[in-house]
Amino acid sequence: MRRAERLNHLPAYAAAEVVALKRKLVAQGVDVIDLGAGDADFPPPEVAVRALAEAVKDPRMSRYGFQIGHVPFREAIARYMERRFAAAFDPMTEVLPLIGSKDGLSHLPFAVLDPGDVAIVPEPGYPAYAGGVVLAGGDMEVYPLTPKNGFLVDPERIPAARLRKARLVFLNYPNNPTTAVADRTYLRKVVDWCRSHGIVLAYDNPYCELTFDGYRAPSVFEVSGARDVALEFHSLSKSFSMTGWRVGWVCGNADLIAALAKVKTYIDTGPFLALQAAGTAVLDQAEQIVEPIRASFQERRDAAVSALSEVGLPVERPRATMYLWVPLPGGMASAGFARRVLEEEGVVVLHGSSFGKSGEGFVRVALTVSPERLREASRRMARVLERSEVASVAR
Ligand code: PLP
Repeated sequence: MRRAERLNHLPAYAAAEVVALKRKLVAQGVDVIDLGAGDADFPPPEVAVRALAEAVKDPRMSRYGFQIGHVPFREAIARYMERRFAAAFDPMTEVLPLIGSKDGLSHLPFAVLDPGDVAIVPEPGYPAYAGGVVLAGGDMEVYPLTPKNGFLVDPERIPAARLRKARLVFLNYPNNPTTAVADRTYLRKVVDWCRSHGIVLAYDNPYCELTFDGYRAPSVFEVSGARDVALEFHSLSKSFSMTGWRVGWVCGNADLIAALAKVKTYIDTGPFLALQAAGTAVLDQAEQIVEPIRASFQERRDAAVSALSEVGLPVERPRATMYLWVPLPGGMASAGFARRVLEEEGVVVLHGSSFGKSGEGFVRVALTVSPERLREASRRMARVLERSEVASVAR
């Protein structure tokens, strides 16, 4: 059977591909340490489990939610955004529940791009941005994030010809995979730029609670005028250890929310209402739930940064996210290193080039397991490094 041509423009999805490889190794008895997908081994919050168990007993929760979904969830989202960022949203028109934030991010291009319209996509970056643009038939302007530009998109560096056709930009800080953060001055600059060029700003903020050493990540809605152009995407996945539950939301400009809701009306019928009821309970206790999760990630970060540095993989201590963006020594190819680490030592890491070609020379380590296991993973990576060095000296 013939496949649609557009699929040829989508690279393999690294985090998903690794699942099959890992299963094979586990079946062979290998003790695999999975630092691939951003999917930590913490249990979901007890309050979420209890609220879900209650909600499923209510037959009304088994009906179609459509895009309106569970209104108390919308209201809890608005309360959380107000408490956390002092930003007020109308629950019915400026908030939309999502089947994980990936749902909204990947479907947004269908709502705002016409043929020939350009979307600015940072790379390395979360693959759903590029995926959504390609599937929607948009034209992509890839913006390389490098140590030299502090992993920040500088609007002034977008070529004029592309800027004229630009309709959408994706930004994500705290950033996956580079772990870079952005301050309010930067957000101010980007919002002003989007407003003056009529560009939709998709601000992806799923790591805003996973911040360390007292750092606090802002919302784009802390900047005045953001509501003219922006949507901000949030998730229960990372901050609340609920990746598989598939619950997130988007809030912001009411017209954009309505446009995305219209697209989704033809694709899905909203997250399961009982999950939205659980999300309501979680968000109303967000601050208490997040605190121990954040502390555990900080402990894991410190353990992994020290262990990797000791074995010859020095890496900066990130102020946020659940990742380390580890530069490889001596121009080593990231895909080859990640493959060897998996095949020879049973450690899953994602090669930087899987996030886009500017990610070459790095691997992403997700802080998904205990400090002890992270130290063990570092020792295993060191063995691959040593063997590569011996081999290159022998050549
Ligand atoms: N955005 C970024 C930057 C991510 O890293 C992820 C997940 O890894 C998501 C969005 C999607 O999260 P979810 O769909 O689970 O809410």
